Amino acid sequence: MFALLLAAEHLLLPPLETAEGPGSAPASPALYAGIAIKLLYLVPYFIVGHDVIRKCFIGIKNKQLFDESFLMTLATVGAFGCGEFEEAVAVMLFYQVGEFFQSYAVGKSRGAISDLMDIAPEFANRENEDGSTEVIEPDDIEVGDILIVKPGERIPTDALVVEGHGLINTAALTGESVPREVKEGESVISGCINGDTLLKVQAVKEYDDSTVMQILELVENAASRKSETESFITRFAKYYTPIVVIAAVALAFIPPLISGNFTAEFSKWLLRACTFLVISCPCALVISVPLAFFGGIGAASKEGVLVKGSNFLEQMSMLDTIVTDKTGTLTEGKFSVSYMEAAGEMDTDELIRYAAAAESGSTHPIASAITEACKKPYPPSKIKDTQVQAGGGVKAIVGRDEIIVGKKSYLEEQGIETEDTLADAAGTHCYVARNGKYIGTIVVSDKPKANAKEAISAMLKAGVKHVVMLTGDSESVASSVASELGITDYRAELLPQDKVNVAEEMLSVIKASTKGKGKLAFIGDGINDAPVLSIADVGIAMGSLGSDAAIEAADVVIMDDNLTRIPKVMKIASRTIGISRMNIVFALFVKFACLILGAAGIANMWVAVFADVGVAVICILNSMRMLIKDNEQLKVQN
Ligand code: ADP
Ligand code: MG
Repeated sequence: MFALLLAAEHLLLPPLETAEGPGSAPASPALYAGIAIKLLYLVPYFIVGHDVIRKCFIGIKNKQLFDESFLMTLATVGAFGCGEFEEAVAVMLFYQVGEFFQSYAVGKSRGAISDLMDIAPEFANRENEDGSTEVIEPDDIEVGDILIVKPGERIPTDALVVEGHGLINTAALTGESVPREVKEGESVISGCINGDTLLKVQAVKEYDDSTVMQILELVENAASRKSETESFITRFAKYYTPIVVIAAVALAFIPPLISGNFTAEFSKWLLRACTFLVISCPCALVISVPLAFFGGIGAASKEGVLVKGSNFLEQMSMLDTIVTDKTGTLTEGKFSVSYMEAAGEMDTDELIRYAAAAESGSTHPIASAITEACKKPYPPSKIKDTQVQAGGGVKAIVGRDEIIVGKKSYLEEQGIETEDTLADAAGTHCYVARNGKYIGTIVVSDKPKANAKEAISAMLKAGVKHVVMLTGDSESVASSVASELGITDYRAELLPQDKVNVAEEMLSVIKASTKGKGKLAFIGDGINDAPVLSIADVGIAMGSLGSDAAIEAADVVIMDDNLTRIPKVMKIASRTIGISRMNIVFALFVKFACLILGAAGIANMWVAVFADVGVAVICILNSMRMLIKDNEQLKVQN
């Protein structure tokens, strides 16, 4: 307000000496021409800055006083007040150029991420009942529609193949470069690209519910879950701006008051205060830090990894411990029967028939191995009262007999003694009992995933201190898998609830030993591991492409089963944090230096414009690196 009055005074009243000078004539025409020219500066000022001024007033009305528009308006009005007309207009102009550049950069990065992901289908070919086809918008697909996907076209929505078979490229969604084979009856997900053959598919989901839309939404919403670094910047701006304004007011008034000659000194200090305000604009940080995270999440998506929020990306760079499930995570999760031994008069054919009958009601991977190994299964009508004990085994009535299949401790709990004639056979031992009597052992085995060992050593190299395997399986299987994969730490024979307890215990140990800086990630298959997934700092679900449950429960979803993506995402995360920190340090350093120079009267408005707009542009360019070449580098390194 004061500045406005001062500006008015400058414009309307002729300088004092002229007005009151001895014997001066009434103001000369030249003087009025000067005032008119100065008034003319208001025209470009308002043209360039009207929306900033408007935003400033809206801010004042909404009681959100201290934003950038407020700082800029105050500073430029102040500059007018000091008679620095060119500077006032120039500051507004450069500020607007900077703003334009910023919105361009942000828009460009969003565009870059969708291009990067490039998964949205543009159209669909629908086959009508009369056999004709028509091209429709993906939005118009209805469940049950028959769609034709020609070679090279994108599958428009999640669907079932009804005719044709061929290879589809899932790279854009999973990062997996090897095409996947599909045939009649198999499901395909939207966004994949069809290979060389024509596929006829039937839509099972509308476009809005399709995998592509889920992924795009996830990536867009990810930005709303703020990382610590981002919330720090928001909090910082909240306190920083008012402090700067108060400092500027003090700078305008206190030195002239102390000098004793207020009127003479005031306009000089007011100008310094305005310079100070321009420099202090925090926009470089407010925009560039979220942009870096946005880029990081985009880079991870390109690797086939969905990170559900900036906070999770940030935590991926701080992992102290990775806890993993065994079956289906470190191992293939596809068991097969490797040995059998029947006790007493029982023969192995009969043994497996009984076991398979009991297992027919279980969905455990072990159950499918046993049922597949049985050539003459009991008819389902003979099997009843199946009871599944998670992490233990299964019990059922087969014919007139009670059959139990499970791990040693599960049988012992029910008072059944087991024998260990196959003790040396590697694999998971399933003990079988009939009517409370041990009748034999079936050994099933599963093999570690091909790249699991490599993935674990890459995690350790990327900075994780411990990799711990948790399993419900026996000590001997756990130790052989662990040593094969180079895992030093494992816990075996855990019930599902024990896994949660172990994870909680580890969380508190890590918290205490790293003062809250180290994070724990849990990798599981996303369905039966949901409790542990949710208590871990970062819950990572594996290979659950298209499974809604896993996408819901986890914080990070790896689209294919590939564990080696985790260390890659850790690198992307560290890079993101590195770039954000670099921006914070650089911006604060330049601003702080310029603030001191501005207060001392050494830096003028032009330096101030650089400190604001220039720094913002540099920080934004730095953040945009996250989107461009670094991803390629990551690929080459690994
Ligand atoms: P993991 O921790 O490896 O995912 P689970 O917790 O699912 O394993 O199961 C732990 C152990 O319980 C298995 O290794 C197996 O010995 C036994 N078990 C669980 N379910 C069954 C079943 N349906 N049939 C036989 N054994 C089972
Ligand atoms: Mg499991």
